[in-house]
Amino acid sequence: MHNAAFAELGLDWVYLAFEVAAGELEAAFAGVRALGVGGLSVTIPHKTAALAAVDEATGRARAVGAVNTVVRLEDGQLLGDNTDGAGFLASLADEGFDPAGRVCAVVGAGGAARAVVHALAGAGASEVVVVNRTPARADAAAALARGVGRTGVAADAGRADLVVNATPLGLAGGGSGELAVDPGLLGPGQLVVDLIPNPAVTPLMRAARERGARVAGGLGMLVHQGALAFELWTGRPAPIGVMRAAAIRALGQ
Ligand code: NDP
Repeated sequence: MHNAAFAELGLDWVYLAFEVAAGELEAAFAGVRALGVGGLSVTIPHKTAALAAVDEATGRARAVGAVNTVVRLEDGQLLGDNTDGAGFLASLADEGFDPAGRVCAVVGAGGAARAVVHALAGAGASEVVVVNRTPARADAAAALARGVGRTGVAADAGRADLVVNATPLGLAGGGSGELAVDPGLLGPGQLVVDLIPNPAVTPLMRAARERGARVAGGLGMLVHQGALAFELWTGRPAPIGVMRAAAIRALGQ
């Protein structure tokens, strides 16, 4: 996705993947500083630890407690940011959904859920209900939505305008067949977003669509969080269409 965008804009940059063992993040970042790497993405399992390993962090990265994008500043310092929430909101805009004044249910309370909850509250949602297997983590995530957040129960998905699956249930190869939300609760008038980008149509999306809900997958958030990172690194508008096409190719969709 990023290499396709660099090529499109004629930038002499390259995006590479490095597997970093848990516990080696500080050393990896020291390497980034020493080598003059322009920026990087951070993913599982390092997003939380990266917040402590950067020199500075943006307010949204500190609020969510995780970094997904690192930008090298002119003085060589590493700035940690988090584009997941803004990427999610951009994907909602693509669906024509404005969260302002709407009731939103987020299932899951991990890193992705926390970014989504924080972003939905920032976008003016009237209520952000967090439903999670481990209630204490739901409480912590709901607190990110300040006055409009609360911990909910499974049935809350039935009265939400927007339902977001932020658990890995339904991931390609996952195999349990369990759905994050009871489709019997879903129906017309709702938008159901499954953050899982692969498969393109998850079992939850299929079931929700059969019940008459509108559905969207995780590709939009994946592309938009990357596009925002691209703009932070390069200072240039991201060629979204090129990035989306490259992501679809990479996912084999
Ligand atoms: P985390 O591991 O941080 O959080 C996972 C969450 O799912 C936790 O709340 C966990 O509950 C819950 N969960 C896990 N397994 C089960 C289960 N069997 N039953 C019920 N709940 C379960 O993961 P992330 O937040 O990083 O990622 C979550 C999903 O979002 C993934 O599928 C990932 O692919 C997707 N994602 C998509 C992105 C995109 O750009 N489209 C970006 C980031 C993530 P508990 O607290 O009880 O452990």
